[in-house]
Parts: sequence; C-alpha cells; structure tokens
Amino acid sequence: MNWEKGIVMRFHSNTVSIMNTKTKKREECVLRGKFKKQKIRPIVGDYVEYTLNEQEEYGKIENILPRKNNLYRPKIANVDQAILVTTLKNPFVDALIVDKFLIQVEKMGIDCAIVVNKVDLLQTSEEKELLQLFLDTYSPLYTTLPVSSVTGENIDKLKIIFKDKISTMAGMSGVGKSSLLNSINTGLKLRVGEISDKLKRGKHTTTYTELLHFDFGGFIADTPGFSNLELRGFNKDEIRDYFIEFLEFSPYCGFSDCSHTVEPYCMIKEKYEMGEIASSRYEDYVFIYEELKKRGDKR
Ligand code: GDP
Repeated sequence: MNWEKGIVMRFHSNTVSIMNTKTKKREECVLRGKFKKQKIRPIVGDYVEYTLNEQEEYGKIENILPRKNNLYRPKIANVDQAILVTTLKNPFVDALIVDKFLIQVEKMGIDCAIVVNKVDLLQTSEEKELLQLFLDTYSPLYTTLPVSSVTGENIDKLKIIFKDKISTMAGMSGVGKSSLLNSINTGLKLRVGEISDKLKRGKHTTTYTELLHFDFGGFIADTPGFSNLELRGFNKDEIRDYFIEFLEFSPYCGFSDCSHTVEPYCMIKEKYEMGEIASSRYEDYVFIYEELKKRGDKR
C-alpha cells in the first residue's frame, strides 16, 4: 500500500481531516491503534503519513513526521511564523504590548512579521511621524509592513508573506486581523464570519484550532496565537535573550551575566545612549525586567 503524505487540518470526534500535501485533496482518516500505546498523538499542523484502502471508509494515519516546533496556544505543530498585527490609531497599541508579543514569539523560536494595519487613518504629520518611528524601530529587526485593509495598501505584499507557510496571527482585538484575512484571500471568504468570531473570542475560545488553507498556498490557524499579554512563566533573566538586537553587543558587557539595567560597563546601555538601540525597545526591556522582578520577589 502506498504511503501518502498529508498535513493535519482539524479533528472531528472520531476522525482527523488531512490535506494531501501534493494533491491538496482532503481525506478523513483514523488513527492506527498503535497511537493509543505510544504517548505521541497527532495535533493540527502535523505532517503525517497515511494509507488509503478502497474497501474502507477512512484512511489510516500510520506515522507522524518529526515536528519542527509545537505551540501550546493555539495547540499546533510546525508553525513557520507569527504574523503580529498592530495599529497606531483606533486603537493605539503601545509598543510595550508589541514587545511583549515579540518576547513570546522569540521564546518559541519562530519567525515573526509585524503588520501595522489601518495606516489609512494616519493623516496628520504627527501621525505620519509616529508610523516612521515605528518602522525605524522594528524594520531593522523584523519584516515590518504598513498596510490598510481599507485602501488595499501593501495587501499584495502581505499575501507573499503568508504564501506557502503555516502562520498564526496575533494581535489585540480590533486591530483588523479578520479584515486583513478578508482582504487578502477570496479562498477563505465563505468562512470569514466564523474566523472573525473565533479570532474575537481569542483566548477564551474552547473550540479546537483548525488550519485554513489559502487558495494561493499556505495555511493559517483560525485561532489567534500569543493572546496572553501577561508574561506568565517568564523569568526576568531570560528576556534579555529575546530582545534580538541586544545579542550582538551583550558579549562585550563588563559582566557576563549583565542584566543591562544597573551594572557598570554595560554595552547595551551604552548603545541605547548612543541611539544604536531604539529607546522604546530598551526602555520596554527595563520596564518588563522590573515587572518580572517584582512579581518574582512576591512569590
Ligand atoms: P480584529 O478584532 O482584529 O479581527 O479586527 P476587525 O477585523 O474586526 O476590525 C476591527 C475594526 O477595524 C472594524 O470596524 C474594521 O472595519 C476596522 N478596520 C480594519 N482594518 C482597517 C483599516 O485598514 N483601516 C480602517 N480605517 N479601519 C479598519
């Protein structure tokens, strides 16, 4: 029997929906009994090998291929990237929130692209400067794209970011995650009401995550990732590793375990003072460090 390769799209009560990686055909499969004995069970995003038998209604999942990564919220494997959506007006999302999202993404070790939506609303020179400052801060670190789902600005570029990847979307409620999905893809149109409902329910959702397939290639999880704005389970001493622009300078700090806050001979502080590290990034780092320190002290 031929072993086919597919990706797990969603779970039903007794079956698993798989999309064949080559033909894109959807197949309903069941798990082989051996998965009950082994502790490993497939999750959404898993690449699996399965067999089809004409006499049987369902295919059989034979094997789970090694995972590249394994996200907990939403529970999904093999995520290629997080698309962080933010806005500077209606609502104004503080950079501190962006940085807290980025910390979570960096801890998971997945790539990230930042999408600044609703740039059509930024009309005054102050608002335009705000956008420029945001781009100056983040574009040296991450792919950063100003877009508007209303005017269609850069939506073609957003599509390229999504293409052929498994993505999870993150961002505060109201920044336009569902509108962006609406504007990039006709293949998902029918489902957009549902997606936006799920995206809005955010972390309170109890339904299982499902992968949706873009007709131009690629997948997106239908529940938002990283919705937790409190950095639970984080230690103050680990977050310096997640500010990726620190990494090139921190080996030159006077102390090898420098926290970049109060120590002398700190290279990060020096680069911040020289304007080589963006002030909001450094200041957010110190703020988050102190926040985690206080929380740790209370325990
Ligand atoms: P979500 O909660 O992140 O899914 O946000 P929605 O997609 O529901 O959008 C929230 C509101 O922002 C809606 O009223 C949208 O019409 C509006 N909106 C979304 N994108 C844009 C945009 O690019 N420009 C403007 N002006 N409004 C937008």
